[in-house]
Amino acid sequence: MKTIGILGGMSAASTQLYYRELCALTRGAQGGLHSPQLLIRSLDFAPIAALQAAGDWAAMGTMLNAEARALERGGAEILILATNTMHKLADEMMAGVTIPLLHIADATAAAITAQGLRRPGLMATAFTMEQEFYTARLRAAGLDPVIPDAADRATTHRIIYDELCRDVVTRDSRAAYEGIAARLVAQGADSLILGCTEVGLLLGAGNVTVPVFDTVLIHCRVAHDLACQA
Ligand code: GLU
Repeated sequence: MKTIGILGGMSAASTQLYYRELCALTRGAQGGLHSPQLLIRSLDFAPIAALQAAGDWAAMGTMLNAEARALERGGAEILILATNTMHKLADEMMAGVTIPLLHIADATAAAITAQGLRRPGLMATAFTMEQEFYTARLRAAGLDPVIPDAADRATTHRIIYDELCRDVVTRDSRAAYEGIAARLVAQGADSLILGCTEVGLLLGAGNVTVPVFDTVLIHCRVAHDLACQA
């Protein structure tokens, strides 16, 4: 099995989900004492969130590139970037890196189209919902994403940074997210992308009325499948 390099810590709350899910997939496939071969680089999210808020994406691109190169030097054979938002910098991150990056938006789009769905609602950070780097990629795959209105985007974003990235899960925020998901369905969404790696802490198949596509679970499955190929 190939070694998967995970560039994470964005946030630490969701990198833990990646580790747990990749372990579960490997155990399920191979049984016994098997566990995945991983290199997990977990960054301190506080300075990164500050750079995001300041709009200093160039500094973050340089940082991600150095981390990707280090993971490759350390023996990673496949890379995953365990955050949707930071895929804004996928090209910068991968400059001069020769191992493949499994892009989270491509993996998610493929999972949705495989089920014959076309209009996914998207709940994510404001960066992911409002800028083109993610939605354009979904459109290129033939999807027509439905984005929350301004108030719902602000609520979604605030709960991610103020609560979920700090491992805070509340009943009120779950109810708020359920309301936003329901409004996306009312706008015509035929499915829902949990387009931020922490959103699965509040939403899932049990409290959303359309098929749910959790980017963490999809990303892990694709990475696991590729790692298992000879
Ligand atoms: N984990 C989040 C995402 O998937 C948000 C944190 C970040 O900005 O990286 O977009």
